[in-house]
Amino acid sequence: MSSSKTISPAPATPIPDISATHARLRATFRSHKTRPVEWRKQQLRKLWWGLHDNENDIAAALWQDLRKSEHEALQSDGIWLKNAIIDALGDIDSWVKEVPITADLLSKAGSPTIRKEPLGVVLIIGAYNYPFQLTLGPLLGAIAAGNCVVIKPSEISQASCAILTKIITESLDPDAFAVVNGAIPETTELLEQKFDKICYTGNGVVGRIVATAAAKHLTPTILELGGLNPVIITKNADIKLAARRICWGKALNAGQVCLSPDYAIVPSSKEAEFVSSLASTWRKFYPNGLKASPDYPRIVNDRHFQRIKKLIDSTSGEIKIGGQTDESEKFIDLTVVKVKDENDALMKDEIFGPVLPYVVIDDLDEAIEFVNRVSDTPLALYTFTTDKKEANYILGHTRSGGATVNDTIWHGASHKLAFGGVGESGMGNYRDKFGFDAFSHHRTTVRQPGGWFEMVLDARYPPYIPSKLSQYRMLLEKKPNFSRDGKARVSWFGWLLSLGGGDKKTVVVKYVATILGMIYFLRILFLSQ
Ligand code: NAD
Repeated sequence: MSSSKTISPAPATPIPDISATHARLRATFRSHKTRPVEWRKQQLRKLWWGLHDNENDIAAALWQDLRKSEHEALQSDGIWLKNAIIDALGDIDSWVKEVPITADLLSKAGSPTIRKEPLGVVLIIGAYNYPFQLTLGPLLGAIAAGNCVVIKPSEISQASCAILTKIITESLDPDAFAVVNGAIPETTELLEQKFDKICYTGNGVVGRIVATAAAKHLTPTILELGGLNPVIITKNADIKLAARRICWGKALNAGQVCLSPDYAIVPSSKEAEFVSSLASTWRKFYPNGLKASPDYPRIVNDRHFQRIKKLIDSTSGEIKIGGQTDESEKFIDLTVVKVKDENDALMKDEIFGPVLPYVVIDDLDEAIEFVNRVSDTPLALYTFTTDKKEANYILGHTRSGGATVNDTIWHGASHKLAFGGVGESGMGNYRDKFGFDAFSHHRTTVRQPGGWFEMVLDARYPPYIPSKLSQYRMLLEKKPNFSRDGKARVSWFGWLLSLGGGDKKTVVVKYVATILGMIYFLRILFLSQ
């Protein structure tokens, strides 16, 4: 798709307006305007129409910023968001419901519940690579939960930022939602304000700046960061399938995806097939070459183009596929490089571009050790193996924000699944109900019975005479089901269940069958007398 019109960038928000905007939203929140669920639904419905009516502009903006095809643009930003809204609208009534909690005897009479309350005024800071999804995605949860929201789109994808601003200001209630545009000075001013939660998507360096600013106000944060996402290919992998799925995950948005595979580990027996399968898949995906293909995006700006080019120039590995770049178009070829170890320039940081280094390691435990040494908390981990036990072994010996077995990106592709990092790749998660919960306060509430209940509560009041403590112990003190050496004590019933081994279900079936057998036997015995 190439658009004839050029979308102009949105002007930066004047710095003095930022605190005034924050104060306006705070006043709206205090007016309780955002509390009614119907009001929240209306905002979501209007946002759906805003996205729908501006679909062409969304595609045009993503083409202008990243030369992203209409197919990718609508799949991952336009349609993706619209579906997420429709699902949220279908489920919001169940999300907002007060949830009863199973409590101990003493609290039961107060019918304890969890109320899902809005947090207040929250800030969402988006990133450039999926400017619509990563900014409006968290916004859906924040609206559903009844918050006022300041939205700060990434200034890097300028056209998308302008269209985002248009959609938000035309669709949502301006008393409760505001866009702040600009770069570091505007974001710094925003971070001076006290928010009730900040959701930041971007790199870890700025993530630390955001977390430090938030800490001054005791503001909790969701940090959606990146990392070095490994792909462990084992000797039991279907290599052709792995290559096809890695190609797709690596070429998506020209590698400018937080979930993009960052490096692969391949056993020596599969190396040749792996490289040739990658090359033949790319030829199939882009029959006229990558540069000529309208399906292959470009790097977002010169700074990022130079950063990735420098990485390719400074690798001491062997370039097996690609390697070409064109500064005039910010084009970087899909590039596969065989590297010796983690000291290579390509293995130091997240690449965030279309380059895939790989190392050859034969032993699986060595591969796992390598992954944990390079970065033990990436955003994503991928493994390709046809052996389920092997996949579970890998999952059980590594950490990551999310993981996909036998594919790339997929655990992060659905608007229904929780999305978030761990350790260096971030904290917290959102999307669908997880997003609603992330922007809600879970307020434990007890509604204590009236005067008659004093009789029951008597034991808690002074004077603390010994009989009150005995009464308390008798009624409420629990007995341990474990011994001093930390072992669980098994009841006779539990012991019976464990006889014969098997999982719990099998044992219950065996147990019921035995009881029925005994009844039958006793019946025959009884009838024969
Ligand atoms: P970016 O340059 O668009 O910056 C992100 C946001 O940070 C922007 O809104 C920008 O205005 C703001 N910002 C920049 N400098 C700042 C400063 N000094 N103080 C305050 N705010 C500042 O995006 P980026 O950071 O280059 O994005 C790429 C990174 O983001 C990669 O590491 C990628 O893995 C990560 N990412 C993570 C996710 C996720 O969901 N986990 C998604 C996309 C990108």
